[in-house]
Amino acid sequence: MPHSTDSTNRRLQTLDAQRKPIMLRSIVLMTAFCLMLVGLHAWSLWASRQGELEQTAVSTANMARALASHAERSLHTADAVLAELVERAQEDGPGRLDGERMHKRMAHITATSTEIQELFVYDADGSRLATSLPTLLPGTNIDREYFRYHMTHADRGVRIGKPIHSRSSGALTIPVTRRIDRPDGSFGGVAMASLRLDFFGRFYDSFDVGQTGTIILAIDDGTLLYRRPFKPEMVGTSIAGGPVIQLYRKSGPVGTAMLVARIDGIERLYSYRHLDGFPLLVATAQSKDEILRGWWIAVIKMSCVVVFAVGMLAWGVRRMVRQLRVREALEDELRAARAALELRNVTLRQLADSDDLTRLANRRRFDETLAAEHERARRSGLPFSLVLLDVDHFKKFNDRYGHVAGDDCLRQVAGAIATGPRRPTDLAARYGGEEFAVILPDTDRDGARAVAEKIRQAVLALGIGHADSGCGQVSISLGVHTCRPSADTASTPLACIEAADAALYRAKMDGRNRLAMCGDSVAA
Ligand code: GH3
Ligand code: MG
Ligand code: MG
Repeated sequence: MPHSTDSTNRRLQTLDAQRKPIMLRSIVLMTAFCLMLVGLHAWSLWASRQGELEQTAVSTANMARALASHAERSLHTADAVLAELVERAQEDGPGRLDGERMHKRMAHITATSTEIQELFVYDADGSRLATSLPTLLPGTNIDREYFRYHMTHADRGVRIGKPIHSRSSGALTIPVTRRIDRPDGSFGGVAMASLRLDFFGRFYDSFDVGQTGTIILAIDDGTLLYRRPFKPEMVGTSIAGGPVIQLYRKSGPVGTAMLVARIDGIERLYSYRHLDGFPLLVATAQSKDEILRGWWIAVIKMSCVVVFAVGMLAWGVRRMVRQLRVREALEDELRAARAALELRNVTLRQLADSDDLTRLANRRRFDETLAAEHERARRSGLPFSLVLLDVDHFKKFNDRYGHVAGDDCLRQVAGAIATGPRRPTDLAARYGGEEFAVILPDTDRDGARAVAEKIRQAVLALGIGHADSGCGQVSISLGVHTCRPSADTASTPLACIEAADAALYRAKMDGRNRLAMCGDSVAA
């Protein structure tokens, strides 16, 4: 039983040492897991947002390319016509253009072209020499901005002017012009093709840029030609200070960026492109809110799922932690109860093994120990000694001083006996009545004699008066026997007791208050 208790204790200690602060660990682990989940969620949302913006950037860039090439085609058409008109005017001289022939040619071109509304050739003084219109309008064109430009600038390239209201139709048009030189290089007039603004408008309106998206056509100096949504009063105004022109000036002919429009304050993803060979810029943009609307819906849905998952996890962890706390408290309680029980067991065992009156080991313990030591001595070959002690004339002590005094005397004698043996393996016991015994393992005859004599002296030293004893005070007689069970195969614990008892008897016979040694068993 004690063996199994010891091994259980050892196992418990080992397990206890292996115990880790599981509660803290689970909280840390779960928190880390939740953070990882939230981090992963945030990262995936960020990645999908970037993907959405990049995809839109690609499609707006493609749209800008399509719009630019459309505008380039229209301008090339107009420019080719202008180049032809200029060449004729310069070859034949502006003054000698055949009005009827030119008129037919120009009227044919405007009739078959979707973008060119009107064609004009002006003289150096601004009067109309030829036109695609059925009749020549009276008056001059000298007040027009493009005319004044060509008068004062010698460059022969095509020019795109600020939008103007056509004098014939009143419609908003874009004047595309070239200068006509005289043979001496001086200013000879202007050839002009007016492009319909609504031609661009119709084309731009066919693109889907969302409700708050925009498409811009502007001269690269910032003069706005067209902007969707279209407002006539904005045509011809300057957007040079706006973000698109600023970006163009900074980043070159092609670019894409998230910009906030000056006109309406809306943040948009802009893609712009400068036309090849013409000073024009087209830009298309979708508002950031519209691009990310679907993404935001996904964010809300997925975040709800993540929040729910994290909430469930936190709830589970909270419950688990509570359970762990209960378990730990239970464990502590059990531990305390076990310790108390063990202590109680030890006390009970001590009580069961000890004598009530003297607190020395009792007879049962003495018998067990003697049997064990006898066996041990048999195996080890070492001797052990047994001392039997008896209080002298104790009956008389009781008779004279009473049983209560007798009990007290026995207690004192027991205390004196307990001072004799020194080794932890030695055992002093009450054998019965006023008789005691001391087992001295690994102790030979001389050692036992010394211990016995020491005890005898200690009892005398108590100085308990005993009028009916020979020496006038309480004394004891002792019988000492040293056993060698390994040498004496017939030796038994009982035989050892009998031998010690015989020695004790001799001590009594020899006059009491003395010890008598029994010869070794071998010798016996
Ligand atoms: P001897 O010197 O020959 O040993 O004489 P004795 O009187 O001591 O021996 P005896 O065996 O005749 O008497 C022992 C007495 O010890 C008898 C009994 O009353 C007394 N006694 C035994 N146990 C106790 C005890 O627990 N308390 C008290 N007060 N007396 C006890
Ligand atoms: Mg006796
Ligand atoms: Mg006695």
